[in-house]
Amino acid sequence: MPSEAFVEASGQSILRLFPPPCIRCPWSGRGRCSGPQTVDSQLRDQGKRLSCFDIQKTADLLENLDRHRPPPQQYPVLLGLPAAIPMLCEGMPEMTCLDPQILYGISLDDLIYKNGRIKYASGRALRAAFQLPPDGRVCLVASVKDTRLEEFWARSYTDRVWGQIQEFGFEFVTGATFSVFEMHSRNGQIVNEDRNLVSVDFLAQAGVPVVPVFCEIVEEDLENAAQWLEERPTIRVVAGLAQSWKTSQEFARFLSRMKFLKNQVPHPLHFLIIGCTSPWRILKLFRELGAVTVTANIALRGVKGEWWDPDRREFVAVPEGAWGREDMIPSSIGGFTAFCGAAPRGSVPMVQ
Ligand code: SF4
Repeated sequence: MPSEAFVEASGQSILRLFPPPCIRCPWSGRGRCSGPQTVDSQLRDQGKRLSCFDIQKTADLLENLDRHRPPPQQYPVLLGLPAAIPMLCEGMPEMTCLDPQILYGISLDDLIYKNGRIKYASGRALRAAFQLPPDGRVCLVASVKDTRLEEFWARSYTDRVWGQIQEFGFEFVTGATFSVFEMHSRNGQIVNEDRNLVSVDFLAQAGVPVVPVFCEIVEEDLENAAQWLEERPTIRVVAGLAQSWKTSQEFARFLSRMKFLKNQVPHPLHFLIIGCTSPWRILKLFRELGAVTVTANIALRGVKGEWWDPDRREFVAVPEGAWGREDMIPSSIGGFTAFCGAAPRGSVPMVQ
């Protein structure tokens, strides 16, 4: 029987809430979930998303994951990250001349096809596609649509995708970013958080320097993330997806979750903040987190005709034909990285 009725603010629809079957849930058995803390945990019909009522499906997923789950790995300490990593994009203008000293980012969305297969045969081919020289510095940021990531994940059980990624020579790779939404069943949240962390061990096992991405929302999940990091003291760089949080209130909640990790984890952390170009947000990140690297889709904006104006400290539209995109993009990269490099920092504990 329904436990109660939930009336939306509009008053238009009534959602029936049901108590989820926590007693039979694997997460409850593992001490990983203390109960339905989101409204969506009490909704039977979640469409394509995993609901708290999908007990058998969850047990099968976990059994499969446990069979492949690697033991804890050696994680090399990542040091010397810049204040900003400009993201490159597919369709970069030919003749774009990129500074070889700069570390650039490529998103997983641009590395794999819709069916999850990796597009490039070698690190040289990959760099050439993004207008980089054969020894260009590059990292992989797992910013990717969930559907594509699911295909890639399924393929990882049969193909040696982690080894292929290692062969590209990325300076580091972020872990997977299966989405975790505030409006999501607890089961859906925890399964995706678990897969994001397991991907870190898959990558480390393949010999890739890896940065975990934390999408945790609920406090007990943040505590679990802090514990996971405490058990891996050489992981000093952690990532968060700022791009998912559009409003000021959402961004404030995102920042508070990063600060929770900063305060709870006993060793110093450096934060890789994915997808942030708002100047006031960037200044706030550096002030409140201290050690920060920001990634921004500068090349894509350039392709679309936007240039980082260093005086206005924002992207401005440049009419087509007024300035060649191949020159405008390096100018944006220079201006944006200089702005982030000069941002005043809050207190940063020394990395030993
Ligand atoms: S994940 Fe859902 S079903 Fe499982 S214990 Fe948590 S609230 Fe209950």
